[in-house]
Amino acid sequence: MGPLHALNALFEEEDTWMPAYFVGHGSPMNGIEDNEFSRSWTALAASTPKPKAILCISAHWLTRGTAVTAMQTPQTIHDFGGFPQELFNVQYPAPGDPTIARWTADAIQSTTVDMDQDWGLDHGTWTILRHMYPNADIPVLQLSIDYTQPPAYHYQLAREIQTLRKKGVLIIGSGNMVHNLGMVDFARLNENYGFDWALEMNDLFKKAILEKRHEDLVAYQKLSKYATLAIPSLDHYLPLIYTLGLQLPDEKMHFFNDRAVAGSLTMTSVAWEGKS
Ligand code: ZN
Repeated sequence: MGPLHALNALFEEEDTWMPAYFVGHGSPMNGIEDNEFSRSWTALAASTPKPKAILCISAHWLTRGTAVTAMQTPQTIHDFGGFPQELFNVQYPAPGDPTIARWTADAIQSTTVDMDQDWGLDHGTWTILRHMYPNADIPVLQLSIDYTQPPAYHYQLAREIQTLRKKGVLIIGSGNMVHNLGMVDFARLNENYGFDWALEMNDLFKKAILEKRHEDLVAYQKLSKYATLAIPSLDHYLPLIYTLGLQLPDEKMHFFNDRAVAGSLTMTSVAWEGKS
């Protein structure tokens, strides 16, 4: 079998569509804690068909233009400060997959995708995946978020990579729907509670997702006068927009980790369950 044939075999369409997840990642400490969130990530993986690869769109990789990690061995990036040494010691040695990176870039027609050799796996990715796939034996890639572009652009871009779901790739958007770090109640960091506006926004987001009002979620400022409190910057919200663009018609979905923490964050996550 020549290289081209091998490539075609690898990306032959399967009958089933893999699930797609939006995961609220919250504090980096979730990466090493055993708590209700980390346990739900472990359970989520147990109910997921084994992926050929994982493509993660993390709130923590913002670039000018769009890039995909294309190296064979992505490094573990500790992109935070002020946390215990134990968290800095974590390594998540999943391999990359340059072939799937190339295929991802080729699927995206609306822009040129940079084949990145410098990034790796940031904490938006590995804090979740080390609970989902502790053996780190499934290739992991990241797709960056072009911070110069509005939500509608990202929604369309997501539609272009939807077909990866039919080729065994599990796509995960990792952010938080309500994410206002400036208003975090640090005295109650480990408590499940939300300010009134955060709970109201959580309900509005869930209702719009359930009713498939994607255009309202793209134009999120119109959802409520509190929208800009929930989304003071787009970084943690855009991964949700990507997963909305990945949704299939009539696809079943469910919410999980539907909780507010520390007043101004929500962990609320969405599983689009795929189709066979
Ligand atoms: Zn984050």
